[in-house]
Amino acid sequence: MFRSHNCGELRASHINTEVTLSGWVQKVRDKGFMVWVDLRDRYGITQLILDEERTPESIMEKAQKLGREFVIQVTGTVIERSSKNPNLATGDIEILVKELTILNQANLPPFTIEDETDGGEELRMKYRYLDIRRNPVKNSLIFRHKVSQEVRNYLSKEGFIEVETPYLIKSTPEGARDFVVPSRMNPGEFYALPQSPQTFKQLLMVGGMDKYFQIVKCFRDEDLRADRQPEFTQIDCEMAFVEQEDILDAFEGLTRHLLKEINGIEINKFPRMTYDEAMKKYGNDKPDIRFGMEFGELNEVSQHKDFNVFNQAELVVGIAVPNGNSYTRKEIDKLIDWVKRPQIGALGMVYCRYNEDRTFKSSVDKFYDETDFEQWAQLTGAKPGDLICILSGDKNKVRAQMSALRMELAEQLGLRNPKEFAPLWVVDFPLLEWDEETERFHAMHHPFTSPKPGQLELLKTKPGEVKANAYDLVLNGNEIGGGSIRIHDKKTQSLMFDYLGFTEEEAKAQFGFLMNAFEYGAPPHGGLAFGLDRLVAILGGQETIRDFIAFPKNNAGRDVMIDAPAPIDNMQLEELSLKVKHHEK
Ligand code: ASP
Repeated sequence: MFRSHNCGELRASHINTEVTLSGWVQKVRDKGFMVWVDLRDRYGITQLILDEERTPESIMEKAQKLGREFVIQVTGTVIERSSKNPNLATGDIEILVKELTILNQANLPPFTIEDETDGGEELRMKYRYLDIRRNPVKNSLIFRHKVSQEVRNYLSKEGFIEVETPYLIKSTPEGARDFVVPSRMNPGEFYALPQSPQTFKQLLMVGGMDKYFQIVKCFRDEDLRADRQPEFTQIDCEMAFVEQEDILDAFEGLTRHLLKEINGIEINKFPRMTYDEAMKKYGNDKPDIRFGMEFGELNEVSQHKDFNVFNQAELVVGIAVPNGNSYTRKEIDKLIDWVKRPQIGALGMVYCRYNEDRTFKSSVDKFYDETDFEQWAQLTGAKPGDLICILSGDKNKVRAQMSALRMELAEQLGLRNPKEFAPLWVVDFPLLEWDEETERFHAMHHPFTSPKPGQLELLKTKPGEVKANAYDLVLNGNEIGGGSIRIHDKKTQSLMFDYLGFTEEEAKAQFGFLMNAFEYGAPPHGGLAFGLDRLVAILGGQETIRDFIAFPKNNAGRDVMIDAPAPIDNMQLEELSLKVKHHEK
C-alpha cells in the first residue's frame, strides 16, 4: 500500500492516527535538529516533521538529503501543529515521520513548481509534465474535466447518444487544409484527418440515431494565428426531425446548464440577433454584448457639408465612448495612432467631445456645427461627458476597424469583465461568402448548410443575399458554437455543390457517399458544434485555451516536448511509398 490518505485530506480530526502518504517533495526546511518537508500530490500539501528527539537518526539523515521533486513515501502519526497555517487545508496538522522511503529521485526541475513560476512558456511546454504539477495548470485540467462531465451528463439526460466516428477519413470541407496520413496498404493513397465529424454525424442521422453528440478531436491545418491549435476539441452534436428553433432550444439548454453548474450563474432566455444586425451594430458577427458602444451610422448627418473624407465614404460610423471626454488630447492621439496601425488599417479617426455643458468640440469643427454634432450624439447614443469616435471608408473595412476599436476601448475601460457572461445567438447567416482571392463565392459555414426556405432561387440572381439556416452561439465576444440545418435531399445538395464550383465528378468523388445516403431516406436534420477548448477557457475566466489543454502545440504547430513533427526514416518512407523532396530550411 502506497498510501492510506492523500496529501490534501488530513485534518485536526485525524490527530493521533497512523498514516502513510506518498507524493513529491515540494520543499525541505532543514534546521539541523529539525527538518520540515512539504509533501505534495494532486490533492494538496501536507507538512511532515522530523526531529532529533523523536525521529530515528537514519531517517533524519535521509530527509536531509531529499531534493525538490523527489518522490517519497512516509509513515507517521498525525499530530497537532504548534503554529497553524490557515492558508492550507491541512494547516492544523503535521505528520511526525517514523519511516521514509525514497521511491524515486529527481533532477532539479528547470523551473519552480509554484503557482507563480520562474519558467517561461517554451520551457514549461518542454517540461509540460512538471508544469502540470503546478496548481494553475492542474486546476485548469480538473476544471475542463468538470465541464466535459457536465456536458455528458446533460446531453445524456436529454437523450443524446455519444458515438465515436473515425479519424482516418477523407477530406471534410470546413474551410481549412487537411492533415493527411499516408496509407501503407494502399500505396499512393492518403487518409485525411477530420476537420470535424460533419459528414459522419449526418450519416448517423440517416442511420436513425436521432440525437448524437461526441466530445471529439478535430484537425485543421491552418496558420496558427492568435489562440488556435491544429488539433482541438469539439462538442459535436446533431439531431434529426428538427428545425432551427429546436436546435437553439436544445443547446441554449446545455449552455444554461453549464453556466449554472460551473459558474453558478442563471441566465434565462439568450438574446438573439441577426447576422445583418450584428454587423450593423457591432461590425462583427460575434459581438461582445457585455457593454454598449453600439455603432451609429452617420452618413445622413455627415455627408451634407464640405468634408470630403466623409462625403466619399461608403460608410461613416461612430461610437460613443462612455466618459471618454476625460481622454486627454494625447490619449486621443494615441487612439488615432492605434487605428492607423497596419493591423487595423484606418486612415484616420475623427473625434468629437461632448462636454458636460452640452457643447461640442471636434477635430472637424471647420466643417460641422452644433446641430450636426447633436445628431451625431443622438445616433451614437452619446451623453454629455462622452467622446464620439468616428471612422469612415469602405463599409466592410470600416465596420471591422470600428469593431476592433470598440474592443480596444472596452479593454482600456475595463468593460470586459471575465466574471460576467453575456451569451448571444447570431442567426440568419449568409449562405455564401465572397472570397477576394479566388474571386468566387464559398459556403460561409459549409456546403451542407441549407438555405432559408424559398431562397434557393435567389442563388442565381443575388447569391450574396441568400440567407442560411445557420447560427452561432457567441459568449463574451467569442464564437463558442456554430451550426446549421442541413440540406437533406440529393437534388439540393447537388445544386449546392454545383454552385460552389465542384464538378459532378469532384462532388461524387468527395461526397458521393453522402449523396447516396440521401437517396435512402434521410430525415430532416441539423446540428452544431461547440469549441470545447474555448468554452472551457471562457467559463474559467481565462483568455488562452492553451492553459486548458494538457499537451498543447506552440504557434509553429510544434509539440516541443516530444519534438514533433519530425522526419521519419527511409525504411518508413519506403513502406509508405513516399519520397521526400528535401528543401533547405
Ligand atoms: N461541423 C461544423 C463545424 O465544425 C459544425 C456544424 O455545422 O455542426 O463548424
